[in-house]
Amino acid sequence: MVIVMKPTAAQSDIDYVIRRASSLSLQAHVSDQNGHTVIGLLGDLKGLNLDALAGLRGVEGIRLMTQPFRLASREFKREPTTVCVKDCTIGGRRVVVAAGPCSVETERQLRNAADVVKRAGGHLLRGGAFKPRSSPYSFQGLAEEGLKLLADAREATGLPIVTEVLSSEQVPLVGRYADVLQIGARNMQNFALLRAVGETRMPVLLKRSMMSTLEELLLSAEYILSHGNPNVILCERGIRTFETYTRNTLDISAVPALKELTHLPVIVDPSHATGKASLVKAVSKAAVAAGADGLLIEVHPEPENALSDGSQSLAPQQFVELMREVEPIAEAVGRSV
Ligand code: PEP
Ligand code: MN
Repeated sequence: MVIVMKPTAAQSDIDYVIRRASSLSLQAHVSDQNGHTVIGLLGDLKGLNLDALAGLRGVEGIRLMTQPFRLASREFKREPTTVCVKDCTIGGRRVVVAAGPCSVETERQLRNAADVVKRAGGHLLRGGAFKPRSSPYSFQGLAEEGLKLLADAREATGLPIVTEVLSSEQVPLVGRYADVLQIGARNMQNFALLRAVGETRMPVLLKRSMMSTLEELLLSAEYILSHGNPNVILCERGIRTFETYTRNTLDISAVPALKELTHLPVIVDPSHATGKASLVKAVSKAAVAAGADGLLIEVHPEPENALSDGSQSLAPQQFVELMREVEPIAEAVGRSV
């Protein structure tokens, strides 16, 4: 349930509603929406006297929430949320592009990739230092050494960095280096990890698991939001279907569907969705046309030598072309890149 306060409500009116909520063992999530203080009440609402709450001083009205995800829903917050990463705003007019290698491999590889991303007009640098690989025999990432290389690349280019955190124990370490904490598809329902990143206030890029529904994705986002972190970015990266030509099947309708269901920004990862560099450009354009707030793209200076996901990684020139071709599509839907 959401209590919308009048714009003229005094702080003492707001505090009183919060005290009433806590006396009823309800959690109150307070936010400022369009000049109104809005109080989301979470917990067991059975037997609540709505008329009494609606009659409290300073209360403008009460809205009931029907979706199981509450703070993530449009019912709780109608205006789109923007997540700020340094001076880059995700969820605003600009389509934000995060690009870089699947894995951080060497100083030279990362610096080359970062320079390409910067020169082509990308906004954020992605790169994995802790890699969730299907096989224990595959390259697992450079761990803290990789995080240091990412921090150096940020220093050199000014690009904020997005990197994956695999477990709740890693949150303090990865959080010391990253600007955005990525939660990978395989960890979308790692609830201990969701709680741990929820306790930070850092931007979190939450990827949809290959076998989850949109509702499950939004309930995972809800874990982060309900632990006090409002900075959640959702990412559609393809789901598993019977099709095997592509690595996954991009659920393009997830973009407008999520836009209906939630106020959180939605980005698309065409690299993991397709698994094929030759398809990434077209799918990126489709994502932007469908209303995505950003793209997550794998770029490698030498894709043929990549230690992970080389077949879906763009070579530098391909990324330059992608950035150029996405621009008119963004403009056609009232955005810029
Ligand atoms: C990645 O972004 O490198 C990654 C592992 O993606 P996903 O979790 O979507 O498979
Ligand atoms: Mn990858």
